[in-house]
Amino acid sequence: MKFYIHELGCAKNTDDVNHMKSLLVDHGHLPLVDPEDAEVIIVHTCGFIEAAVSESIEAILDLADYKNKNCKKLIVSGCLSQRYQDSLLKELPEVDLFLGTSYSHRIEQFINKSGSYFDELNFKIRSFKHLASESPYAYLKIAEGCDNHCSYCIIPELRGPMRSKSIDELIKETQDLSRQGVKEIILIAQDLSRYGEDRGEIQILELLEALNEVEGIRWIRLQYVYPDLLDETFFKKMAELPKVLAYLDMPIQHASNKILKRMNRHTTQEDLRRIIHLAREILPDIVLRSTVMVGFPGEKEEDFTTLMSFIKEVAFDKLGAFKYSDEEDAASHRLPNKISEEVKENRFKKVMDLQREISEEKLSHYVGRVMEVIVDEIYDDSWIGRTQGDSPEVDGIVYVSGDGVKLGDILEVRIISSSEYDLMGEINELT
Ligand code: SF4
Repeated sequence: MKFYIHELGCAKNTDDVNHMKSLLVDHGHLPLVDPEDAEVIIVHTCGFIEAAVSESIEAILDLADYKNKNCKKLIVSGCLSQRYQDSLLKELPEVDLFLGTSYSHRIEQFINKSGSYFDELNFKIRSFKHLASESPYAYLKIAEGCDNHCSYCIIPELRGPMRSKSIDELIKETQDLSRQGVKEIILIAQDLSRYGEDRGEIQILELLEALNEVEGIRWIRLQYVYPDLLDETFFKKMAELPKVLAYLDMPIQHASNKILKRMNRHTTQEDLRRIIHLAREILPDIVLRSTVMVGFPGEKEEDFTTLMSFIKEVAFDKLGAFKYSDEEDAASHRLPNKISEEVKENRFKKVMDLQREISEEKLSHYVGRVMEVIVDEIYDDSWIGRTQGDSPEVDGIVYVSGDGVKLGDILEVRIISSSEYDLMGEINELT
C-alpha cells in the first residue's frame, strides 16, 4: 500500500517514524512524501503537554479530509494515542486504528487491523535498518522510556520504564548509517546518562568508545543528558574520544533548590554549578545547551530571580525555556499555588530576552575563527551548515557563501560575522 507518515513531536518521534518507514518498506509498502495519493495515512503524535495535544488533534482532523480522496485507512500512533486511549475512539470516529507507543515498532503487523492497541509499555526496544536518506546526520535512539519521574512529566507513563538497546545492536545501526553516507550521529533517549542501567550496569562510556570506532562517522553528539550522574570520568571520556563532540544538551529545568525539590529533580543548584564547572574545566570549548521551566507551582518571585541570576552566572551557549503546563495526570497537578498564565508568559519572555543577549555576546567571539562546519543544505551560490556546537532543528546555523560543496562535507569555514543565534562565514582558503 502507498503510505504517508505525518510526524509530530520530538527527535524520539523522528526515530519512531524512521523505524516505522523501514518496517513498512521491508514489507513491500511504498512511502510517500505527502498525503495526496496515500492509501494509508499514519499520524505519529505527541501528547505530553496540552499544546502538543491540540496540535496533534488538529493534524488528525486535517488529514482525515484525505479519506474523501485515496486514503482508505487513518492510523493514529504515538504519545497522544497512548495518553488518551479509548476516550479518543469516541472523540475521533474518523480514525480507523489507534496504536500506543509500543506498537510503532511492530506497525507492519497492525497496518491491516482496525480498533485500538495500547498495552505493554514495557516492550523490548529493537534496532532497525535505517532507510537511505540525503541527510548528513541521523538520530540514534539508544534507549526508550524513563525512570526519573520528574513531577511535571508524564513521559514515563507514555513511554514506560527505561529500556536500553545493546551496544552490539547500536554499533550495527551506526555502521548501517555510515554506509549510507551519514557523517553525524545524534544519540537520543529520555536520559542518555543512564544508558544500560536497566541491563544491570550503566554503559554510556563503553558505548561512546564503541561508536567512536565506527568508520565513516565523523561526529557523535549527545542530546538529552540528565545532569546528576555526570562526573570527571564522563567528561574526560568525552575529551578523549575524537569523534565525540564537545557539545552537551543537559536540561536543568530550574536553579531554585525549593523548586528543584518540588520537581523531584535529583540535583541542587550547587550540584549544577559544580557539574558545569567540571565540564568547562575538562572541555574548555564545550558548548552547553540546556532547558529551563518557568511558572512551576509555588515559584515565587525570589525563586524566579534565583533562576535568572543562575542563567546569567553560568551563561549557557544555548538555552530553551518552557512554561509549566498543568497536566492533570502529572504528579505536580496536585501541588498548590499555581502560577497565572500572564506571570508565566512574563517570566518566559524575561528568560528568552536574557538568553538572546548571552547568545549574541558568545557568538560574537567566533568572528575571525576558523571552524569545522558540516554542509546541511545547498543553494545556488551559498549553503547552510552547522558547527560542532549546533544540533539540528534546535540550535543555530552557519550561512556560507560559495558553491562546489556536497551534503555532509565537513569544511573549514572562517567566521566573518555573527547575529543573536547564527553565524556567517566563508570557506577558509588559507588551509
Ligand atoms: S528525565 Fe524527567 S523530564 Fe525527562 S523524560 Fe524523564 S521524567 Fe520526563
